[in-house]
Amino acid sequence: MNIILLGPPGAGKGTQAQILMEERGMVQLSTGDMLRAARTSGTEMGKRVAEVMDRGELVTDEIVIGLIREQLEKGSEGGFIFDGFPRTLAQADALGALLDETGETLDRVIELSVNDEVLVDRIVNRAKEAVAAGGTARADDNAESLKIRLMEYYKKTSPLIGYYYAKGKLVRVDGLGEIEAVRGEIAAIVD
Ligand code: AMP
Repeated sequence: MNIILLGPPGAGKGTQAQILMEERGMVQLSTGDMLRAARTSGTEMGKRVAEVMDRGELVTDEIVIGLIREQLEKGSEGGFIFDGFPRTLAQADALGALLDETGETLDRVIELSVNDEVLVDRIVNRAKEAVAAGGTARADDNAESLKIRLMEYYKKTSPLIGYYYAKGKLVRVDGLGEIEAVRGEIAAIVD
């Protein structure tokens, strides 16, 4: 079972991906995490994307498709959870082609739907919690970057809702509920 978690920043994609990993042995492929890891380890690519990420804009399709290709080649018995990828129609086409190459299928695209006010609150809280826990907030978890991240989502990523609906893959889940309620809805889809 391979699924995409689709939704704006703060919708709960990462949280639900973690749960699916723990409960079902699926492998989470988060391009955001991969890009942050590239930055931390100081790779050339990491340095190149840092400013773009901090502004809240999308990095190039080529970079993220390359990251996903590497991971898909490793395979996953429990299936993949695509979290934060694809984010553009070009990425969605590339994912389709990569899955075809590896003989895999895309089973479901789960859209976590939430409203913008909740997103802003969640992201601001996420930043506060990170600092309270003695860490640092993500550089893009601030009001200015968040505005741009939401704009990028509506402009470039939300067309994927129609794209996957047309393919008969889309399932919408109310992302406003408690973590446990959302988990239950996703479990019913994945089972
Ligand atoms: P995320 O952790 O998914 O919110 O991603 C953090 C940032 O990484 C985004 O705001 C983008 O700058 C970049 N990023 C992550 N995934 C992608 C993607 N699929 N396409 C383009 N940029 C991405």
